[in-house]
Amino acid sequence: MRRLVLVPTPIGNLADVTLRALEVLREAEVVACEDTRRTAKLLRHYGITTPLQRLDQHTMDRADRLLEEHSYIAYASDAGTPGISDPGAGLVELALQKGFHVEALPGPTAFVPALVASGLPVARFVFEGFLPGGRARKRRLAILAREERTVVLYEAPHRLARTLADLAEIYGPGHRVALARELTKKHEEIWRGSLADAREHFAQPRGEFVLVLAPREPVAEARPDAAELAAELAATGLSGRALAEALEARGVSRNEARQAAYRKEKT
Ligand code: SAM
Repeated sequence: MRRLVLVPTPIGNLADVTLRALEVLREAEVVACEDTRRTAKLLRHYGITTPLQRLDQHTMDRADRLLEEHSYIAYASDAGTPGISDPGAGLVELALQKGFHVEALPGPTAFVPALVASGLPVARFVFEGFLPGGRARKRRLAILAREERTVVLYEAPHRLARTLADLAEIYGPGHRVALARELTKKHEEIWRGSLADAREHFAQPRGEFVLVLAPREPVAEARPDAAELAAELAATGLSGRALAEALEARGVSRNEARQAAYRKEKT
Protein backbone atom coordinates (compact mmCIF):
# COMPACT_ATOMS: atom_id res chain seq x y z
CA MET A 1 0.00 0.00 0.00
CA ARG A 2 1.43 3.41 -0.96
CA ARG A 3 1.02 5.91 1.89
CA LEU A 4 1.11 9.68 2.29
CA VAL A 5 0.94 10.84 5.90
CA LEU A 6 0.44 14.51 6.83
CA VAL A 7 2.41 15.15 10.01
CA PRO A 8 1.66 18.16 12.24
CA THR A 9 4.77 19.69 13.78
CA PRO A 10 5.24 22.02 16.79
CA ILE A 11 4.17 25.68 16.53
CA GLY A 12 6.95 26.83 18.83
CA ASN A 13 7.69 24.27 21.50
CA LEU A 14 9.59 21.22 20.25
CA ALA A 15 7.98 19.05 22.96
CA ASP A 16 4.59 19.42 21.24
CA VAL A 17 4.95 16.49 18.89
CA THR A 18 3.10 13.21 19.22
CA LEU A 19 4.70 9.78 19.55
CA ARG A 20 2.95 8.73 16.33
CA ALA A 21 4.30 11.77 14.48
CA LEU A 22 7.84 10.77 15.49
CA GLU A 23 7.18 7.16 14.48
CA VAL A 24 6.00 8.22 11.01
CA LEU A 25 8.89 10.67 10.55
CA ARG A 26 11.30 7.88 11.50
CA GLU A 27 9.75 5.13 9.37
CA ALA A 28 8.83 7.00 6.18
CA GLU A 29 11.11 6.64 3.14
CA VAL A 30 11.26 10.40 2.79
CA VAL A 31 10.01 13.47 4.66
CA ALA A 32 8.81 16.09 2.19
CA CYS A 33 8.61 19.52 3.82
CA GLU A 34 8.23 23.26 3.24
CA ASP A 35 11.64 24.18 4.59
CA THR A 36 14.28 21.48 4.99
CA ARG A 37 16.32 23.53 7.49
CA ARG A 38 13.36 23.96 9.79
CA THR A 39 12.22 20.33 9.65
CA ALA A 40 15.84 19.15 9.98
CA LYS A 41 15.98 20.91 13.34
CA LEU A 42 13.00 18.89 14.59
CA LEU A 43 14.36 15.62 13.21
CA ARG A 44 17.79 16.27 14.71
CA HIS A 45 16.23 16.99 18.10
CA TYR A 46 14.64 13.54 18.07
CA GLY A 47 17.58 11.69 16.46
CA ILE A 48 15.68 10.97 13.21
CA THR A 49 17.75 10.53 10.05
CA THR A 50 15.07 10.09 7.35
CA PRO A 51 16.04 12.02 4.17
CA LEU A 52 14.32 15.37 3.61
CA GLN A 53 13.03 16.81 0.36
CA ARG A 54 11.78 20.36 -0.13
CA LEU A 55 8.17 20.68 -1.29
CA ASP A 56 6.52 24.07 -0.81
CA GLN A 57 4.11 26.18 -2.86
CA HIS A 58 6.96 27.18 -5.22
CA THR A 59 8.16 23.62 -5.81
CA MET A 60 4.85 21.71 -5.98
CA ASP A 61 5.72 20.72 -9.55
CA ARG A 62 8.08 18.20 -7.92
CA ALA A 63 5.17 16.45 -6.23
CA ASP A 64 4.50 14.22 -9.21
CA ARG A 65 8.02 12.84 -9.17
CA LEU A 66 8.02 12.45 -5.38
CA LEU A 67 4.89 10.32 -5.60
CA GLU A 68 6.36 8.25 -8.46
CA GLU A 69 9.61 7.56 -6.64
CA HIS A 70 8.40 6.77 -3.13
CA SER A 71 5.75 4.62 -1.59
CA TYR A 72 5.81 5.88 2.01
CA ILE A 73 5.96 9.66 2.26
CA ALA A 74 5.56 11.92 5.31
CA TYR A 75 4.68 15.55 4.69
CA ALA A 76 5.35 18.38 7.17
CA SER A 77 4.82 22.12 6.78
CA ASP A 78 6.91 24.69 8.65
CA ALA A 79 4.73 24.60 11.74
CA GLY A 80 1.37 23.18 12.76
CA THR A 81 -0.85 21.12 10.52
CA PRO A 82 -0.13 20.89 6.78
CA GLY A 83 -3.01 22.29 4.73
CA ILE A 84 -4.08 24.76 7.45
CA SER A 85 -2.99 28.10 5.90
CA ASP A 86 -0.02 26.07 4.64
CA PRO A 87 0.77 23.87 1.64
CA GLY A 88 -0.56 20.32 1.72
CA ALA A 89 -3.93 20.30 -0.03
CA GLY A 90 -2.41 20.06 -3.54
CA LEU A 91 -0.23 17.12 -2.55
CA VAL A 92 -3.22 15.31 -1.02
CA GLU A 93 -5.23 15.78 -4.22
CA LEU A 94 -2.42 14.43 -6.40
CA ALA A 95 -1.69 11.52 -4.07
CA LEU A 96 -5.37 10.51 -4.11
CA GLN A 97 -5.38 10.64 -7.91
CA LYS A 98 -2.40 8.30 -7.92
CA GLY A 99 -4.08 5.80 -5.63
CA PHE A 100 -2.15 6.61 -2.44
CA HIS A 101 -3.68 5.95 0.94
CA VAL A 102 -3.75 9.40 2.59
CA GLU A 103 -3.72 9.83 6.36
CA ALA A 104 -3.51 12.96 8.52
CA LEU A 105 -2.23 12.70 12.07
CA PRO A 106 -3.88 14.86 14.75
CA GLY A 107 -1.50 17.31 16.37
CA PRO A 108 -0.41 20.93 16.77
CA THR A 109 -2.20 23.78 15.04
CA ALA A 110 -2.42 27.39 16.21
CA PHE A 111 -6.12 28.08 15.88
CA VAL A 112 -7.43 25.41 18.26
CA PRO A 113 -5.59 26.53 21.43
CA ALA A 114 -6.37 30.17 20.55
CA LEU A 115 -10.07 29.43 20.18
CA VAL A 116 -10.51 27.28 23.27
CA ALA A 117 -8.58 29.68 25.53
CA SER A 118 -10.25 32.80 24.10
CA GLY A 119 -13.15 32.85 26.55
CA LEU A 120 -15.48 33.36 23.56
CA PRO A 121 -18.15 30.86 22.42
CA VAL A 122 -16.50 27.73 21.00
CA ALA A 123 -19.47 25.53 20.14
CA ARG A 124 -19.73 27.00 16.64
CA PHE A 125 -16.88 28.81 14.93
CA VAL A 126 -15.54 29.64 11.48
CA PHE A 127 -11.85 29.51 10.54
CA GLU A 128 -10.96 32.18 7.97
CA GLY A 129 -7.16 31.94 7.96
CA PHE A 130 -5.48 35.10 6.61
CA LEU A 131 -7.75 37.88 5.34
CA PRO A 132 -7.29 38.67 1.65
CA GLY A 133 -5.68 41.92 0.55
CA GLY A 134 -6.89 44.36 -2.09
CA ARG A 135 -10.49 44.80 -3.10
CA ALA A 136 -11.61 41.44 -1.73
CA ARG A 137 -10.70 42.51 1.79
CA LYS A 138 -13.52 44.92 2.68
CA ARG A 139 -16.10 42.62 1.16
CA ARG A 140 -14.81 39.70 3.21
CA LEU A 141 -14.82 41.84 6.35
CA ALA A 142 -18.39 42.92 5.74
CA ILE A 143 -19.46 39.29 5.33
CA LEU A 144 -17.62 38.31 8.51
CA ALA A 145 -19.29 41.03 10.54
CA ARG A 146 -22.64 39.32 9.87
CA GLU A 147 -21.26 36.00 11.05
CA GLU A 148 -23.18 34.48 13.93
CA ARG A 149 -20.35 32.10 14.83
CA THR A 150 -17.04 32.96 16.50
CA VAL A 151 -14.50 33.94 13.82
CA VAL A 152 -10.85 32.83 13.90
CA LEU A 153 -8.20 34.65 11.83
CA TYR A 154 -4.46 34.36 11.34
CA GLU A 155 -2.38 37.53 10.96
CA ALA A 156 1.25 38.49 10.48
CA PRO A 157 2.64 41.05 12.97
CA HIS A 158 3.35 43.70 10.33
CA ARG A 159 -0.30 43.65 9.20
CA LEU A 160 -1.91 43.37 12.64
CA ALA A 161 -2.46 47.11 13.26
CA ARG A 162 -4.17 47.53 9.89
CA THR A 163 -6.34 44.46 10.46
CA LEU A 164 -7.41 45.59 13.93
CA ALA A 165 -8.30 49.01 12.51
CA ASP A 166 -10.37 47.41 9.73
CA LEU A 167 -12.10 45.11 12.20
CA ALA A 168 -12.91 48.00 14.55
CA GLU A 169 -14.45 49.88 11.65
CA ILE A 170 -16.66 47.09 10.55
CA TYR A 171 -17.61 45.51 13.90
CA GLY A 172 -17.49 48.66 16.02
CA PRO A 173 -14.69 49.51 18.48
CA GLY A 174 -16.39 47.88 21.48
CA HIS A 175 -16.59 44.42 19.88
CA ARG A 176 -14.94 41.64 21.90
CA VAL A 177 -11.79 39.96 20.63
CA ALA A 178 -9.07 37.68 21.94
CA LEU A 179 -5.53 37.70 20.59
CA ALA A 180 -3.34 34.66 21.14
CA ARG A 181 0.29 35.63 20.67
CA GLU A 182 3.35 33.34 20.49
CA LEU A 183 1.40 30.27 21.57
CA THR A 184 3.52 27.56 23.25
CA LYS A 185 6.55 29.90 23.27
CA LYS A 186 8.32 31.78 26.05
CA HIS A 187 6.34 34.99 25.51
CA GLU A 188 2.92 33.39 25.09
CA GLU A 189 0.11 35.84 25.79
CA ILE A 190 -3.63 35.50 25.50
CA TRP A 191 -5.14 38.96 25.57
CA ARG A 192 -8.90 39.55 25.84
CA GLY A 193 -10.78 42.83 25.46
CA SER A 194 -12.37 45.22 22.96
CA LEU A 195 -11.06 45.94 19.47
CA ALA A 196 -10.34 49.54 20.50
CA ASP A 197 -8.25 48.39 23.47
CA ALA A 198 -6.51 45.77 21.32
CA ARG A 199 -5.37 48.52 18.95
CA GLU A 200 -3.79 50.33 21.84
CA HIS A 201 -2.27 47.26 23.49
CA PHE A 202 -0.77 45.93 20.23
CA ALA A 203 0.37 49.23 18.76
CA GLN A 204 3.81 47.69 18.12
CA PRO A 205 3.05 44.01 17.69
CA ARG A 206 5.72 41.32 17.79
CA GLY A 207 5.40 37.60 17.25
CA GLU A 208 2.75 35.38 15.70
CA PHE A 209 -0.95 36.04 16.25
CA VAL A 210 -4.31 34.33 16.12
CA LEU A 211 -7.36 36.61 16.39
CA VAL A 212 -10.63 35.29 17.77
CA LEU A 213 -13.68 37.51 17.28
CA ALA A 214 -16.91 37.25 19.24
CA PRO A 215 -19.95 36.39 17.14
CA ARG A 216 -22.21 39.22 16.11
CA GLU A 217 -24.64 40.20 18.84
CA PRO A 218 -28.27 39.40 18.01
CA VAL A 219 -29.73 42.38 16.15
CA ALA A 220 -31.21 44.86 18.61
CA GLU A 221 -34.95 45.58 18.59
CA ALA A 222 -34.44 49.25 17.85
CA ARG A 223 -32.91 49.43 14.39
CA PRO A 224 -30.07 51.92 13.86
CA ASP A 225 -30.56 55.01 11.72
CA ALA A 226 -29.50 53.78 8.26
CA ALA A 227 -28.55 57.19 6.82
CA GLU A 228 -26.49 58.18 9.85
CA LEU A 229 -24.68 54.84 9.90
CA ALA A 230 -24.16 54.94 6.11
CA ALA A 231 -22.46 58.35 6.44
CA GLU A 232 -20.26 57.03 9.25
CA LEU A 233 -19.20 53.92 7.31
CA ALA A 234 -18.79 55.75 4.00
CA ALA A 235 -16.30 58.05 5.74
CA THR A 236 -14.12 54.97 6.38
CA GLY A 237 -13.92 54.27 2.63
CA LEU A 238 -16.77 51.79 2.20
CA SER A 239 -19.06 52.20 -0.77
CA GLY A 240 -21.50 50.31 -2.99
CA ARG A 241 -22.07 46.67 -2.13
CA ALA A 242 -19.49 46.60 0.66
CA LEU A 243 -21.27 49.55 2.31
CA ALA A 244 -24.66 47.83 2.01
CA GLU A 245 -23.23 44.65 3.52
CA ALA A 246 -21.59 46.57 6.36
CA LEU A 247 -24.92 48.29 7.10
CA GLU A 248 -26.69 44.95 7.18
CA ALA A 249 -24.02 43.62 9.51
CA ARG A 250 -24.87 46.45 11.91
CA GLY A 251 -28.55 45.52 11.95
CA VAL A 252 -30.00 47.60 9.09
CA SER A 253 -32.54 45.63 7.02
CA ARG A 254 -31.34 44.44 3.58
CA ASN A 255 -33.65 46.79 1.68
CA GLU A 256 -32.83 49.81 3.78
CA ALA A 257 -29.11 49.01 3.56
CA ARG A 258 -29.20 48.83 -0.24
CA GLN A 259 -31.15 52.06 -0.49
CA ALA A 260 -28.88 53.91 1.92
CA ALA A 261 -25.78 52.68 0.04
CA TYR A 262 -27.35 53.70 -3.28
CA ARG A 263 -28.21 57.17 -1.94
CA LYS A 264 -24.65 57.54 -0.68
CA GLU A 265 -23.31 56.71 -4.20
CA LYS A 266 -25.44 59.52 -5.58
CA THR A 267 -24.22 62.18 -3.13
N1 SAM B 1 -0.19 25.38 9.63
C1 SAM B 1 -0.26 26.29 10.75
C2 SAM B 1 -1.32 25.82 11.72
O1 SAM B 1 -1.71 24.64 11.66
O2 SAM B 1 -1.73 26.61 12.57
C3 SAM B 1 -0.47 27.72 10.28
C4 SAM B 1 0.61 28.24 9.39
S1 SAM B 1 0.37 29.89 8.87
C5 SAM B 1 1.53 30.01 7.57
C6 SAM B 1 1.19 30.84 10.09
C7 SAM B 1 0.21 31.61 10.97
O3 SAM B 1 -0.30 30.76 12.00
C8 SAM B 1 0.85 32.76 11.72
O4 SAM B 1 0.89 33.95 10.94
C9 SAM B 1 -0.07 32.92 12.92
O5 SAM B 1 -1.24 33.62 12.55
C10 SAM B 1 -0.43 31.46 13.21
N2 SAM B 1 0.53 30.88 14.18
C11 SAM B 1 1.45 29.93 13.92
N3 SAM B 1 2.14 29.65 15.06
C12 SAM B 1 1.64 30.45 16.03
C13 SAM B 1 1.92 30.64 17.42
N4 SAM B 1 2.89 29.97 18.02
N5 SAM B 1 1.20 31.54 18.12
C14 SAM B 1 0.22 32.25 17.51
N6 SAM B 1 -0.09 32.11 16.20
C15 SAM B 1 0.60 31.23 15.47
